[in-house]
Amino acid sequence: MTNQSFSNRDLSVLWHPCTQMKDHENSPIIPIKKGQGVWLEDFDGNLYLDAISSWWVNLFGHANPDINSALKDQLDTLEHVIFAGFTHESGIKLAEKLVALTPAGLDRCFFADNGSAAVEIALKMSFHYWRNLGQTRKVKFITLENSYHGETLGALAVGNVQLYKETYAPLLMDVITVPSPDCYHRESGESWADFSTRRFTLMEQALEKHADTVSAVIIEPLVQCAGNMRMYDPVYLKLLRAACDKYQVHLIVDEVAVGFGRTGTLFACEQASISPDFMCLSKGLTGGYLPLSAVLTSQKTYKAFYDDYQKLTAFLHSHSYTGNALACRAGLATLDIFEQHNIIENNKHLATIMSKMAERFKGHAHVAEVRQTGMILAIEMVKNKHTREPYPWQERRGYKVYQYALTKGVILRPLGNVIYFMPPYIITEEELLLIAQVAWDGLEQAVRG
Ligand SMILES: *Cc1c(COP(=O)(O)O)cnc(C)c1O
Repeated sequence: MTNQSFSNRDLSVLWHPCTQMKDHENSPIIPIKKGQGVWLEDFDGNLYLDAISSWWVNLFGHANPDINSALKDQLDTLEHVIFAGFTHESGIKLAEKLVALTPAGLDRCFFADNGSAAVEIALKMSFHYWRNLGQTRKVKFITLENSYHGETLGALAVGNVQLYKETYAPLLMDVITVPSPDCYHRESGESWADFSTRRFTLMEQALEKHADTVSAVIIEPLVQCAGNMRMYDPVYLKLLRAACDKYQVHLIVDEVAVGFGRTGTLFACEQASISPDFMCLSKGLTGGYLPLSAVLTSQKTYKAFYDDYQKLTAFLHSHSYTGNALACRAGLATLDIFEQHNIIENNKHLATIMSKMAERFKGHAHVAEVRQTGMILAIEMVKNKHTREPYPWQERRGYKVYQYALTKGVILRPLGNVIYFMPPYIITEEELLLIAQVAWDGLEQAVRG
């Protein structure tokens, strides 16, 4: 079997996510035969370095021996069981671990199977909580400009990336959108903290104005990942937590992308020393193995639903694969690796290497900014460095970087014109240098036209 033969079969029956399928008339789809560590191999024997962790999910490499053996054991024990009326060891253990590891006050764990579903659950739980308390006017959500929370209709509504959202606008609930603390917009010489603090005024105003009708604020802590890896200072989260308390509005923190060590701490919230009312987790939760998500919330939230059945206050949300045993076991194996190998500490070292290797990009004539938060590093490619005028999106410069990098055996998948590195945590210094070199050459090629 070759790439070509699989590619032909694929393109005759499949429809791929987030893809204009016509693009594949000119660039082939790549059938992957196997994965090992940070490397993927196609059917023609080409190797690709997975510099974006297979869409930000993979933490400890493909075919990780520890996760593999845990899954083999689980497979011979229990693959799945209905999670209503029944439970299982891996689900219990994972929930215990998540409750223990997440910030104080998050004591209840509700499982689902992907990030968007977790967001939907947090939104519904928040709304339903107020309703169970007799507060039926709290029906709105506050969200940030440039935020991303997934693709299902509720998640899309509270997101703000127009490329994904605009088409479906007539189907989406109304939300209150507040300008982002995104520090790309700060004045020259202004610190991240100062800018994020200044931007918080607008959030405070929105809360003050709408508190009566707002159920929750939903936010991606520290990095707006799908929104071109835009970053802000933890002080914003601190201020937001205090304001949500003041105005009696829930705080939903969407750690789907940034959870599990991405930003330098196990959870991004830790950098602001806050506890949200709801925390959404997915992506890295199973080390990139299986679809699973979790919503963590407080005992207080839980109790607002806990009553006689006839009161009809229960949270009757479900997914068929809720609490899937294999996925939970992959989650447990992933958390074991964090515990046994001092990953957070080691990531600090990797982040320093990433920072050094990206230094040269700062001087590039078509780079407006190089920014980093922990294990996420982004390079903002622009037409004019001084005015920051972007390249017209129609020119698809980022896509050119993607295509170039593939020919050199590295998977970079820029968001618009933002090239970013978000590698698995087992990457080596040498591999990081390869990514940087290929990104540099790809950038050079893309800016030439
Ligand atoms: C990816 C992502 C989601 C959606 O998760 P899916 O599993 O793709 O549905 C939600 N929120 C954030 C912040 C994400 O990055």
